[in-house]
Amino acid sequence: MSTAPTASPRRAFVTGATGQDGSYLIELLLSKGYEVHGLVRRTSSMNRGRLDAIKIDDELRKQRLLLHYGDVTDVACLARLILDVQPDEIYNLAAQNVRVSFDNPLYTVQVGGLGALNMLEAVRELSSKKSVRFYQAGTSEMFGGAPGTAPQSETTPFHPRSPYACGKAYAFHQTVNYREAYGLFACNGILFNHESPRRGETFVTRKITLAAGRIREGLQDKLFLGNLDAKRDWGYAQDFVEAMWLMLQQDEPDDYVVATGETHSVEDFLDVSFGRLELDWREHVELDPRFLRPTEVHLLQGDASKAQEKLGWKPTTSFAELVRLMVDNDWELARREREAASKA
Ligand code: NDP
Repeated sequence: MSTAPTASPRRAFVTGATGQDGSYLIELLLSKGYEVHGLVRRTSSMNRGRLDAIKIDDELRKQRLLLHYGDVTDVACLARLILDVQPDEIYNLAAQNVRVSFDNPLYTVQVGGLGALNMLEAVRELSSKKSVRFYQAGTSEMFGGAPGTAPQSETTPFHPRSPYACGKAYAFHQTVNYREAYGLFACNGILFNHESPRRGETFVTRKITLAAGRIREGLQDKLFLGNLDAKRDWGYAQDFVEAMWLMLQQDEPDDYVVATGETHSVEDFLDVSFGRLELDWREHVELDPRFLRPTEVHLLQGDASKAQEKLGWKPTTSFAELVRLMVDNDWELARREREAASKA
């Protein structure tokens, strides 16, 4: 008796797999039955904590999550990997971060700007052999928060105010250019800030929630921060990766702002996070000019009506819930740290 061949799973390739969004996106793709290939950099110590946090059955993880060493600045490696893996969907999430980009401008742009071009070249090559869809991780930092522009939408002009944002704006335009020049299915997400308990520890929100937990447990007393007046549109990373996936499921490629539409200052974030632990942040926070950017971005607030209408996407997690999730996670980490210290 002949049996019908079983359909092979859809295959995705994700750069920035070890990052916050990489881990949530991979979790989402695995839950949807994809085989996922993640690009990871060789590092001197393991940085797979977020990948380990992915909630997935161990057997499925072994079968469906495959990691490859590589770097988006190495075009030869990217082309070889992408042609070998033959993914149906490619998500380019690799990047450095905003604050450090002022110290490492060249490398930041090599990764965030030229890295995207390297990816597009590999996608172009693959697209001559099979159908493939490409997602580029753009950022609200490209808007630069110029006065009078909020809320920012897909039609707001870019005014990037950091090497990071300049590199990302370059990647954005190349993605549009490759779509128009070569007919690639290539989309830009213009994502506003999104956070989670898996957020990198140097980003301001996570710095705050980690410090709040440690201060509550008596493990530290002071928290040094830069601009407390900066206003951001903060959403939950798990909600935002869903929008990335939705963009690649449409009939036509396009660019979308993804945001909550609300804006809060760093002071608001301090109020809610320290408040949850019955602490007064004013007794602990000190300003440190080292954390100020040479050019600040004052106000980011997104208008995601296009994503809501066309993708049917909307955020499900409020600002207060997001802060609660992060504080509770980091308070638990601080409790474990204190217990371990008391046993040592
Ligand atoms: P993270 O900083 O958590 O992760 C960045 C990832 O990029 C890490 O896996 C890192 O690897 C990887 N990476 C860095 N340099 C290279 C390189 N040269 N080659 C290959 N991989 C590299 O960022 P997020 O997950 O928060 O963000 C994902 C993407 O979305 C980024 O492009 C970011 O710029 C963009 N974005 C994020 C926003 C946010 O609020 N989170 C807002 C808007 C856009 P390693 O672990 O080895 O360092």
